[in-house]
Amino acid sequence: MDTTRAKVILPAELPLIPLRDIVVFPRMLVPLFVGREKSVRAVDQAMAQGNFIMLCAQKKANNEEPDPKDIYPIGCVGEIMQVLRLPDGTVKIMVEGIRRAAIDAFVAQNPFYRVAVRGLGVARVPERGARMEAMMRGLRLLFDRYVKTSNRLPSQALAPINETGDAEELADLIMGHFPLKTDERQQVLAEMDVKRRMEMIMELLEREIEVIQIEKRLEGRVKKQMDQSQREYYLNEQMKAIQKELGRGDHRSELDELRDRIKKSGMPAEAEAKAMKEINKLEQMAPMSAESTVVRNYIEWLADIPWSQRTEDDLSTRNAKKILDEDHYGIEEVKERILDFLAVKQLSESPKGTILCLVGPPGVGKTSLGKSVARAMGRKFVRVSLGGVRDEAEVRGHRRTYIGALPGRIIQSMKKAGTVNPVMMLDEIDKMTADFRGDPSSALLEVLDPEQNKHFSDHYIELDYDLSQVMFIATANVMHSIPAPLLDRMEVIRLSGYMEEEKVKIASGYLVPKQMKENGIKADALELTDEMLTKIVRNYTREAGVRNLERTIAKVCRKVARNVVEHKKYAPRLKAADLEKMLGIAKFRSEEAAAYADPGFANGLAWTEVGGELMHIEVTVVPGKGKLTLTGKLGDVMKESGQAAVTYIRSRAEALGLPADFYSRYDIHIHAPEGAIPKDGPSAGITMASAMVSAFTRIPVRHDTAMTGEITLRGKVLPIGGLKEKALAARRAGIRNVVIPKENVKDLEEIPKPLRKELKFIPVETMDDVLKAVMAASVFKGAKKLRKRGSEKRPPVGGLESPVVEIN
Ligand code: ADP
Repeated sequence: MDTTRAKVILPAELPLIPLRDIVVFPRMLVPLFVGREKSVRAVDQAMAQGNFIMLCAQKKANNEEPDPKDIYPIGCVGEIMQVLRLPDGTVKIMVEGIRRAAIDAFVAQNPFYRVAVRGLGVARVPERGARMEAMMRGLRLLFDRYVKTSNRLPSQALAPINETGDAEELADLIMGHFPLKTDERQQVLAEMDVKRRMEMIMELLEREIEVIQIEKRLEGRVKKQMDQSQREYYLNEQMKAIQKELGRGDHRSELDELRDRIKKSGMPAEAEAKAMKEINKLEQMAPMSAESTVVRNYIEWLADIPWSQRTEDDLSTRNAKKILDEDHYGIEEVKERILDFLAVKQLSESPKGTILCLVGPPGVGKTSLGKSVARAMGRKFVRVSLGGVRDEAEVRGHRRTYIGALPGRIIQSMKKAGTVNPVMMLDEIDKMTADFRGDPSSALLEVLDPEQNKHFSDHYIELDYDLSQVMFIATANVMHSIPAPLLDRMEVIRLSGYMEEEKVKIASGYLVPKQMKENGIKADALELTDEMLTKIVRNYTREAGVRNLERTIAKVCRKVARNVVEHKKYAPRLKAADLEKMLGIAKFRSEEAAAYADPGFANGLAWTEVGGELMHIEVTVVPGKGKLTLTGKLGDVMKESGQAAVTYIRSRAEALGLPADFYSRYDIHIHAPEGAIPKDGPSAGITMASAMVSAFTRIPVRHDTAMTGEITLRGKVLPIGGLKEKALAARRAGIRNVVIPKENVKDLEEIPKPLRKELKFIPVETMDDVLKAVMAASVFKGAKKLRKRGSEKRPPVGGLESPVVEIN
C-alpha cells in the first residue's frame, strides 16, 4: 500500500454508508455486508461514479435508519474493490480505506445519503526525528507483545507494520488489526495529531495486554480447578471400587445415612449445622484414616444422644404410691416424702432446684427407690456412678484433641437413656474427690443447677446440651462428705436401715421371690419359712441394709437349683441343717455383746458409712511411765477422744479412788478390735473413758449396755449423730440399754416404736452419770469407802494382780 493513495483527489460529494459496528481506517482492506436498501443504493451510486464511497460509523449499532446526527462526522473514504451481489438483494463488497475525511454537510438523505466531504490530515509533511523514531519503535514493540499475548493474529500480518517508516501509516496499519469498541476506534480515527494518536494507541494496547493477561490467569485457575476436581472424582470412584471389593460398603452411602440420622434427631439448628460441617469434613477424608475415625465417632455421638425424643410423664401420685408399695416393704415415711416431692413437681411449672438425695447405708433400697420413681412416672432410668470420681473430665468429658476422648458420664448416660427426660441417679455423690485435674463437684453443680443445666457443656460434644428436663436423684452413704454447695441444692431423705423383722418381711415378700425367679426356681421347689429367714439374717449377715441378705438368699437359690438338676429329688422346705450345709457354719453370733464381761471392756456404738455398728473398746493398764498407746483402726478424732478421756480421769482421780499420780506409773493401751472401717465419728469418748475407768478400778462395764457420746475435758457429754442407725446396731447385737447424751433425747422420736420398746435409752449429761449407768458396781461408792478407811496409801490401782474395789 502506498502512501500516495492517501493524497488522491476526492470528488466533493460522495454517497455514504453508515456502518453499524466497524470504524474503517485508511489502508485497511475490509469486507462489508451491505443489507439496508439505502446503503445498497449508495453502493450502486458509488460504482457508477468512480468507486469511491464515504464510510462513517453510526453512533448506535442497532439504529436501523440513522439521522445525520446519529452518524459520526468523521470517517474514511473507501474505494470499492469488488462487489458481490447476493440472491436476497444484499451485496457484499470489498473496500479499501483511502483517506480520513469529514462530512461537511448532508446533501441528500434519500434515496441514499449523499454528503459533501473534506479530506483530512494529509497536507502536512510527516514528522521525523529521534523522538518520533522512539515512539514508533515503542508502538511496534507493544503491538508485537499484543499479538503474542492475544495469539489472535498470524505473524505475517506483522510484516508491513515492521517495514513502514511512516508514523501515520504505522498507526493506521496497527488500527487495522486492533479490535476495539467502536467509540474507542472512532476516537483514534478522529485524532488528527499523529503523536497524540500514537500515544492513544499505546495506552489502549497496554490496557488490552493487561486484560488479556488477567483473562489468561483466570482461565488457568479455572482449568486447574477443573483438573483437580476431575482427579478427585476419579480417585473417589476408584476408592469406591476398592472398598466394594473389600466388602466395606459404600463410604458415601454411609455418610448419607449419617446425614439422615442427624436430620431426624431433632437437634437444634446450631448443633445440626455443626454436625453437617463435620460430615462434609469427613467426606474429604480417606475413610480408613485415623483422623476420619475420630470425626466419625464424634458425629455418631451427636446422632446418638437424644435431642428431642421424650417419654410422656405420668404424674399421678396414686399410681406412684401403688408402684412404690409394690416394690418396697415399709419405709412409709420415705415413700410419703417422695410422693410429696412428685406432687410439688406436678404443681409448679418449672420446679427450681430441688433434687432428691437419698442418704443411707448400702442395701437399704436407695437405687431401687429411684428405679420405682422412674417406673411410676413412665420415665427411663439411668445410673451414673460417681464413687471414686476425682477428675472433672469424667463428668464433663475430654476434649476431642485427646486420643480416645469420650464424652463425660452425664452425656454417656443420656445416650443410654435415649430420651431427654430420664430419671438420672447420681450414685455415691459423697464419694467424689477433687485433685489437680479439677473438681468434679463443680461440674456436677452445673449439671444440677436449673439456671445452668439448660446449656450444659461437655468438653467432647462442644455444643450446649439441655439437661433441664432430666429428673436427678442423688444417693449417698453419709451426708457429711457431700460437698456443701451440692447439698444446698438437694432435699435429703434419710434411710437408716432395717430391723430384723423388717428384713425378714423384705426377704419373704421381695428378695426370695425375686431370686427364685432369677435363678429359675419354680415356686414349689423352695420354701423358706420366716424362721429360716431369721436364722439367715441373724447368723449370716450383719448389716444395716439387705444387700448381703439378698446375696445369701441368691446363694441358697443356686444350691437349690443344683440340687434340682443333680438329684431330681428335693425337699422344698429347708431346715436349719440344710442351711448350714448350703451356707457353712454361722458367721455371726447374736450374743456376741455378752462375750466381753471382763474389766477394761466397753461396748460403744459407732456410725459408719455402712450404718450403725457395735464397737468394742478394750483397755489394759500395765506398770510403766504414763504412755498412752492406741491401736486398731482408730481415726485421728478417736485418738483425741482417748486423750481427752485420760485427762478427765486424772481430773476425777480422787472421786474414783485413784492416786493422783496413777497416770505416771502406768501405761495405758486402748484397742478397738475388728474395725475395718476407720471409726472417725467423734462419739467414742465416753466409751473409752468407761473402759479405762473399768481397767483401773477392775469393775467391769455392764455387758448388756452400749454407749455413744463425746466427752469434754471436764467430763461433760456432748451430743452425737446417727442415733437411729446406732440403735438398730445395738439391737442387732442383743444390747438392752443404750446410754445416750441428754441432748439427743429429742431424736428418740425418729426411732421406730418397736425399737423404743425393746431398748432402754439412758440419757446422760456428765461422765459421772455414764459411770453410774454402765458400771456393774458403783465406782464412786467404792472410792468413798476406801477413803473412809484411810487407805489412800494402799495402791488403789490393783494393776493386773488385785482389784482395789470389791465388787458386790
Ligand atoms: P442401695 O442403693 O441403697 O445400696 P439397693 O437399692 O441396691 O440399695 O437395694 C438392695 C436390694 O434390696 C435391692 O434388690 C432392693 O430391691 C432391695 N430392697 C431394699 N429395701 C427394700 C424394701 N424396703 N423392700 C423391698 N426390697 C428392698
